[in-house]
Amino acid sequence: MANEDRRRPLRGKIILRGLMVCDTGMHIGAGGNNLDIGGIDSPVVRDPLTREPYVPGSSLKGKMRSLLERQLNLPFNRYGGNGVYRHECSNRKCLACRLFGAAGGRDGDNIPGRIIVRDMSMTKESKERLSEIETGLQYTEWKFENSLDRVTAAANPRQLERVPRGTEFDFEIIYTVESEDEEEIKKDLYNIVQLLRMVEDDTLGGHGSRGYGKVRFNLNIFEGRLIGFYSGDTGASKSLEVKTPEDCTGVVDEMAEFFG
Ligand SMILES: [Zn+2]
Repeated sequence: MANEDRRRPLRGKIILRGLMVCDTGMHIGAGGNNLDIGGIDSPVVRDPLTREPYVPGSSLKGKMRSLLERQLNLPFNRYGGNGVYRHECSNRKCLACRLFGAAGGRDGDNIPGRIIVRDMSMTKESKERLSEIETGLQYTEWKFENSLDRVTAAANPRQLERVPRGTEFDFEIIYTVESEDEEEIKKDLYNIVQLLRMVEDDTLGGHGSRGYGKVRFNLNIFEGRLIGFYSGDTGASKSLEVKTPEDCTGVVDEMAEFFG
């Protein structure tokens, strides 16, 4: 690849902010079993300092990426072990790889992704509300699940920890503007918004087919920052509010024009 093709201009950032609401209990596992005797079989992931449950950005980013790969019907050309096949290519025109990044591997360059999905923390209101419920756990509930041996009918009960229905998290997604092409910026932003809508009709976290992890995104703000913003140019930013989901298209168009 020619050297000029390796440039990667940083033109600015677009920050999308809002609330993610859990419409059903959500389980994003901490991995590994809790070894406490009488402890929960499958705990949720928590901040090690505050012990508050949080949603790792990687959980949402991974779900968004997998939905886009399937929507575009991209080949799952990489095998990551553990039975996980995924798509990654070094084509800068690939809508999934330019947004989410690709490790070049044998066949080419690394493409760093254009989006960052931050870890999500619980809102203050949710923490207050949840600290009033008595579950014996901090901000979560536990749920018994049972599987039955089909031959002997013996029960195999286990306990899963969940973030309760109604819990809200602040979310933040950052899009790096590299292109000068307004249409390209628009397409990426549309993809982000559409993927959030698709995750709403899918699930986040574990045990989705059994009712867990139905989430809703209330996208409130698009904040655009041209590179001059970071050196103090006050005119180099633009904040657009999203009042209803229908506003999104107009907001995306206006934001792309700002960078175009
Ligand atoms: Zn690709």
